[in-house]
Amino acid sequence: MAAKDVCPAIGIDLGTTYSCVGIWQHGHVEIIANDQGNRTTPSYVAFTNNGRFIGDAAKNQVSTNPTNTVFDAKRLIGRRFSDPSVRSDMKLWPFKVRGVRDKPVIVVNYNNMEKKFAAEEISSMILFKMREIAEAYIGSTVKDVVITVPAYFNDFQRQATKDAGLIAGMNVIRIINEPTAAAIAYGLNKKGTIVRGKNVLIFDLGGGTFDVSLLKIDEGIFEVKATAGDTHLGGEDFDNRMVTYFIQEFKRKHGKDISNNPKTLRRLRTSCERAKRTLSSTTETIIEIDSLFEGIDFHSKITRAKFEELNMDLFTKCMEPVEKCLRDAKMDKTIVHDVVLVGGSTRIPKVQQLLEDFFNGKELCKSINPDEAVAYGAAVQAAIMSGEGNIEKVQDLLLLDVTPLSLGIRNYTGVMDVFIPRNTAIPAKKEGFYTTSYSGQTYMTISVYEGERPTPRDNTLLGTFKLSGIRPALRGVPDISICFEIDNNGILVVSAEEKLTGNKSKIIITTNYRNRLSKEEIERMVKEAEKYKLEDNEYKKKMEAKTALENYAYDQRRRIYNHSNIEPEVMKKIADEVGKVIHWLENDNQPWTLEEIENKMKKLQNVCNPIFGEDVSGS
Ligand code: AMP
Repeated sequence: MAAKDVCPAIGIDLGTTYSCVGIWQHGHVEIIANDQGNRTTPSYVAFTNNGRFIGDAAKNQVSTNPTNTVFDAKRLIGRRFSDPSVRSDMKLWPFKVRGVRDKPVIVVNYNNMEKKFAAEEISSMILFKMREIAEAYIGSTVKDVVITVPAYFNDFQRQATKDAGLIAGMNVIRIINEPTAAAIAYGLNKKGTIVRGKNVLIFDLGGGTFDVSLLKIDEGIFEVKATAGDTHLGGEDFDNRMVTYFIQEFKRKHGKDISNNPKTLRRLRTSCERAKRTLSSTTETIIEIDSLFEGIDFHSKITRAKFEELNMDLFTKCMEPVEKCLRDAKMDKTIVHDVVLVGGSTRIPKVQQLLEDFFNGKELCKSINPDEAVAYGAAVQAAIMSGEGNIEKVQDLLLLDVTPLSLGIRNYTGVMDVFIPRNTAIPAKKEGFYTTSYSGQTYMTISVYEGERPTPRDNTLLGTFKLSGIRPALRGVPDISICFEIDNNGILVVSAEEKLTGNKSKIIITTNYRNRLSKEEIERMVKEAEKYKLEDNEYKKKMEAKTALENYAYDQRRRIYNHSNIEPEVMKKIADEVGKVIHWLENDNQPWTLEEIENKMKKLQNVCNPIFGEDVSGS
């Protein structure tokens, strides 16, 4: 029998600001460091005239290329351009976002051309990078992946995240909620055994999103009892407060307004983020940015107390979803056994203190690395799903997730009929019975909504479909059943059937073309992703050749000085040629091609090698 190819599955925490990848290996989860040695990778993609950068390389060049460096794609994914949150987020981004058929499209300049990208494409690039990190570590191809999303992501956002995985050439075996993933990590981390019969509150405060979840962990089953959160609260907001503070200080000190200069703001923001991190372990820190604006150096300091004052309302706001979550789960805070901290921003001492106070001085669980817990859980889930053997610790885990919002239809009186209430464990199925609202009615339009308000227009319209061919009859006679079915990934199928005729119609909410990418669009993006990958490789090759030429040229210059027995004219000839090459390389605007670089190398070698012999650095 032929050996089956082992293709391990990975878990990716696709974060708003940072992403993290993990894999189950040798009986435990390995969080994989990227090529820079960092265990989390910025969710950034940068476009330049010299190629595309993803992760640290993208974030590191952000201050010199702010308008073409894209981040926060997770805030756009699966959303409409007209969504108020998109409109307000756009004001803070240095890159351009436009609406095309109410779908947000990111516009950048790439290789001297205007390029438009959907949020799914940007996310796919980040996923692709995470996949590469994993492949470099394990030394084999990776296809299957579990990706995490915030608990409050609606169907569109989940679908769009799945699409991003597809564009990255991966097989998304499951989308799971971030707090659920963190809970899995927590269950495993506890002295290597599964926690039994516990109520656990997961407090996940990351870079851009905030998630609170109450889970019941019992006999290896993780049940999400309730979720709450804020799509727009996290470390970036704390950074913004500090940025605003220093903008004002700059104005006071130097009489200049820097708030309209994206490059300046980007540099200030980077320093503020660093200062914020420092303030989690010290009580005072400095900000030093040379030539911040119009040649003016900016030096200042900030105390932890000031930082807390700037953000106090936001920190306090973090407690509201905690209360809501407990209320929804009908659970008193005294019966919460553990409060688990997840997400980089939970390192902020004030946040920890407020949470501790809320739980009457309860000690918080910090045993899980807050930046890695979600990817850790995703990696465990990936291992379970790909059926990797001997995972004794997790074999009996069964995960119950819940719907974050209620799902239903608009009934003929204009009110929302809820089929699947919020916090129902999934997968779930629910059927309801309807009839016609007037005599002779031959079709019925079914509008599917998500939300908690009784008036459908205040909720989110997920999609509309039509059941036609109803046999004409008196009002109230036809029997029509409507069925909601939601799968393990939280993806919804709504179907309608007239019992008498067997006439059926259904909607997989994914077919809302207003926001979801079509199959053709995904195929095009997959092809483009491959093209970008080729371009990246070309660029890498070009840069390697350029470095080799640079090394070779400098080596020859050094050799001239070490070879005192060379004729002065020969020496001059070599020095001139080397000088020309170095000048050519130093000109940043040079549109180098690989061929040109190789030709320059050959030409220089032809001059130098006959005198000095072969040089390894140039080969
Ligand atoms: P996450 O999305 O969970 O990776 O969290 C990233 C966020 O955590 C970013 O906004 C970081 O600035 C923030 N963060 C990371 N470390 C610290 C720290 N030591 N103190 C405060 N915030 C931090």
